[in-house]
Amino acid sequence: MKQKVYEGKAKVIFKGPKDGTLIQYFKDDATAFNAKKFDVLDGKGELNNLISELLMTAIKEQGIPTHFIERLNTREQLILDCNIIPLEVVIRNVAAGSICSRLGVQKGLKFREPLLEFYYKNDKLGDPIVNDDHINLFAWSTPSEIKQVKAFALKVNKILSKFFFKVGITLVDLKLEFGRVKFNNHLVVADEISPDSCRLCDTTSQEKFDKDIFRFDTGDLVSSYRKLAQRLGVIL
Ligand code: C5P
Repeated sequence: MKQKVYEGKAKVIFKGPKDGTLIQYFKDDATAFNAKKFDVLDGKGELNNLISELLMTAIKEQGIPTHFIERLNTREQLILDCNIIPLEVVIRNVAAGSICSRLGVQKGLKFREPLLEFYYKNDKLGDPIVNDDHINLFAWSTPSEIKQVKAFALKVNKILSKFFFKVGITLVDLKLEFGRVKFNNHLVVADEISPDSCRLCDTTSQEKFDKDIFRFDTGDLVSSYRKLAQRLGVIL
């Protein structure tokens, strides 16, 4: 029987087979608007497991350290045990979602350069936006670590924008989380990179392949994620 360490909205973390490792299990649960909207979508977890494996591997191959070790089965990945930095790092290439409602920016506006934002990971507070000064003052990270986080985040955005462009998909925005590996304190990209945490659309038709489909009830999320996984070549 595996020992549960933590249960989040879309994943469960179990103790790993060796010290310094954990098992990350992808659930079918879908939540939006700080869990006010909830459903169980059969098959979502398996697709996100495959897609996240592919994207984590793609960035790792380009020199970005990640917590990902290997996929164990259809639902689980072996990962490095990390102390998670309590920040959601959002990088935006095109205006969508909260930047439009918060600042009145026109949806679809292509940014001159990627915009990087930090949100404090705290469900009770609704993950509020914060800046470097909050991060420093409340000791969620240090200035030198944040410099590294920003450099990694922008590089991940560049790598993945190119990666998706090759299959005719635009990376509108993405959310990353970072952690410090417990046994050596190295900074790594943690959590998952999947259509739950990115906005993705067909570059020509603008068809969406991300969680906005669930947020706004605009279609069948699992069949869209399946289409995306097929385009990325991780399923037939
Ligand atoms: O909602 P917002 O526009 O700020 O989201 C920006 C990006 O971050 C989207 O791709 C969204 O899916 C992702 N995100 C996330 N988890 C959150 C908030 C946003 O993955 N808690």
